[in-house]
Amino acid sequence: MKNDIINFIICPVCECNKFDITASSSELGIISEGKLNCKYCDKSYAISKGIIKLYDKLSSTAELELKSHESEIIESQKLVDFQDENWLLNFPNVNRMGIDERSERIGRLISENTMLSIKKFIKKRNVRILEIGAGNCWVTAGLAKDNYCVALDLLTLSPIGLEAGEVFIKKREIHFERIVADMIRLPFKDRVFDYVIISSSLHHSPDILKTLNEIRRILNSNGKLVLLNEPSLGIFGSKERLMAVTDLENGINEKRYTINDWNKFFSTSGFNAEIYLPENLEAVIKTRGGLISGLSFLLNFYFLKKLMMPIFILKFLDGYFNAVLSPGK
Ligand SMILES: [Zn+2]
Repeated sequence: MKNDIINFIICPVCECNKFDITASSSELGIISEGKLNCKYCDKSYAISKGIIKLYDKLSSTAELELKSHESEIIESQKLVDFQDENWLLNFPNVNRMGIDERSERIGRLISENTMLSIKKFIKKRNVRILEIGAGNCWVTAGLAKDNYCVALDLLTLSPIGLEAGEVFIKKREIHFERIVADMIRLPFKDRVFDYVIISSSLHHSPDILKTLNEIRRILNSNGKLVLLNEPSLGIFGSKERLMAVTDLENGINEKRYTINDWNKFFSTSGFNAEIYLPENLEAVIKTRGGLISGLSFLLNFYFLKKLMMPIFILKFLDGYFNAVLSPGK
């Protein structure tokens, strides 16, 4: 943690923006251990391994989700040794956590879409970017060379959580901040970010409208929320839908919404949204199998590609989408 993060955060309890910093371990202006004290309500927030725990009490959904993910990580660490730094530095082009082939494939498609979309949607440099649901920080790390970046997540355990971000910071000689907070209460001042990025995480929010309202508050008036890999439910089901149900049963908030639900969330929270199909649509269609995969060749025809309007497709088929949201005036 570097001191300048103080300019952008607020106390999640009283919303005051004045803190005292106590560093018990720091090197070259980077604090790894210590605490922040709110000058107004006196609540203190731990800084541990460079990560600020900027929350008072997590929502029950967040609490449950954190526990299930942690036990999942501990379980998978037994299978494979993930402590290898190169595994992280090569992310996302690595084998995942001893998961089944299908999840591995979905994971790869999602990261491919993420990389292509970031290139397409984030063209500005020297801007402030918050990534919500940053996980091990591989996306944030890619943006941190040219921008002021903050990675936010609930999970800290490496190799899935924020602690893993340390590897990118040290090995790539970059810096970004890491904050643990609940996404229904974002501990930031109003209008401080140019971009908020969320990849396959918004549907985990216990209250999507609350999260969207918070994002709208912290974005500056020309800011953009870049939403990537959000799943949507079509009229026809898919195998992935069943996996989401299992996750829900295990305490992971894998909620599914239709594209109509999503559009309602966006407009109710005052955002103007442009919806896009995944940038690697062809690869996605090919993995669907059967009749649908046979249709992928149609994408070679420009006019048919145009015809495949995102909303139209997303209404029928389970899938995932990208969206760029601007806060309305
Ligand atoms: Zn306070």
